[in-house]
Amino acid sequence: MRIPLIAGNWKMNTTVAEAEELASSMREKLDKIEGIEQVVCPPFISLTAVGKILQGSSVKLGAQNMYFEVKGAYTGEISPLMLKELVQFVILGHSERRWCFGETDEVINKKVQAALDFGLKPILCVGERLEENEAGETERVITKQLTGSLGGIKPTINLVIAYEPVWAIGTGRAADGLTAETTIKRIRDILARLWDSDVAQEVRVLYGGSVTSNNIAEFVSQSEIDGALVGGASLKADEFPSIVSQSSVIKRQGA
Ligand code: PEP
Repeated sequence: MRIPLIAGNWKMNTTVAEAEELASSMREKLDKIEGIEQVVCPPFISLTAVGKILQGSSVKLGAQNMYFEVKGAYTGEISPLMLKELVQFVILGHSERRWCFGETDEVINKKVQAALDFGLKPILCVGERLEENEAGETERVITKQLTGSLGGIKPTINLVIAYEPVWAIGTGRAADGLTAETTIKRIRDILARLWDSDVAQEVRVLYGGSVTSNNIAEFVSQSEIDGALVGGASLKADEFPSIVSQSSVIKRQGA
């Protein structure tokens, strides 16, 4: 039984005061929703403040990135040792990290290992760019990303994978539910080959890319899709709880 999961990626949005306000305004609504794991990922500098607001609630905290070294001369970076007191999840390999900051599968692999070593649950993002999608290369790209990011890592159900087609992120052009379902089945096949089929069935795989309260049902009604990684819509105090609540209802109905 995979527990459904919705994670909100606030990206580089909200001052500390705004993050506190957003967390406060969502907390009560989110707390009433059962049967689903809920995670918010504010910017690093707001983790402590948001953590205080969410104390005692069912909403968990995640970070948006992390460096793989534990400490030392890495100006501007945040380590798993620093994060483990604050968060349970960490987004790794987001396409914005890959394409704006040049992160390679090799670097992401070290980050995934470091996160697991410190008891953090990585939300590993994979996904193809538009030209790769149009060239029919989705499976090849995802196989390469998963193989590179998970090389040498022991099978674990603490890993979460987010399938995020790059062309769907922040564009308002989401994938359709069936296509996402098919790709996520492929992701489980790849994981079964890399690790083993039992773990591949237990690892949670999310869809991400322009998810809103209007289209979430299309994704979570698919049996292979365990939830969503939500960007823009996670910054809206009514929208995010609606996404979580719809997902909880649909998954409890047996999707
Ligand atoms: C994301 O940031 O991972 C994302 C999917 O963004 P959006 O929902 O805005 O497309």
